[in-house]
Amino acid sequence: MDSLETELERARALDESELADAIETIGFECTRCGACCKAESACGEDGASTDEAGGTTDGASENDEADTEPHTATVFPDEIRQLQAAGEYDFRDVARPMPYGLADGPDGPEGETFEWALQTDDCGDCTFYAEDDDGMGACTVHGDRPLICRTYPFSVALGGTSQPMGETVDEEGMVQAHECEGLGRDISRTDAEDLAAALKERAVRELEEAIGVRDNYRPVDASPGQVVVHDSEGAKRPDGSPYE
Ligand code: SF4
Ligand code: SF4
Repeated sequence: MDSLETELERARALDESELADAIETIGFECTRCGACCKAESACGEDGASTDEAGGTTDGASENDEADTEPHTATVFPDEIRQLQAAGEYDFRDVARPMPYGLADGPDGPEGETFEWALQTDDCGDCTFYAEDDDGMGACTVHGDRPLICRTYPFSVALGGTSQPMGETVDEEGMVQAHECEGLGRDISRTDAEDLAAALKERAVRELEEAIGVRDNYRPVDASPGQVVVHDSEGAKRPDGSPYE
């Protein structure tokens, strides 16, 4: 893979109009199915909602193990602060340590990990997800939602960027599309341009964050039972306070 700095230069040089062209070609309109905000199986039910986002895939969500996966979306330190300010939330109301890399200790997860994920509820859904009486999904922090949510179901094909949960199901130039039942629908040029601008902003921010994580990484001697999260601001405890 090219260096993160090289990928960052490529992200900064992305042509928004070309990204918008690709988004228009792929097509997208959100149906508010909620699949990108929820765990991969319905809470307390028989998994009837499991395939909501699976129509365009080769059936990855049919895997039983995947069905138990909670919602996992990367959220950056400043995005966590923005979400906290939006609702006077505590840090842990908004974010949890990214689970990848953590070990199963006797009292729960332990070890070191990188970055944060949006907090989930008891069902494994994003803590900010709500459904109205008609089953339509809604984001309770819509105006403050992180870039990965603002740009779903799209990402750019650059190394070092974080990818959303859904499998990649389509690709056009630098734009990748992830599983979503709204793909293939007509999108206005204005909406495609707005998405393209957010997509470029996200790619730049993700690479700046990845460089910050790398440059600020200091190995820590985590005690048994502890979780340490490394983000672009250094090592932190699960409540967001600095480690040490
Ligand atoms: S972006 Fe796609 S997966 Fe997410 S709620 Fe909209 S239609 Fe569903
Ligand atoms: S913050 Fe909003 S858009 Fe993002 S996963 Fe949660 S409910 Fe969905």
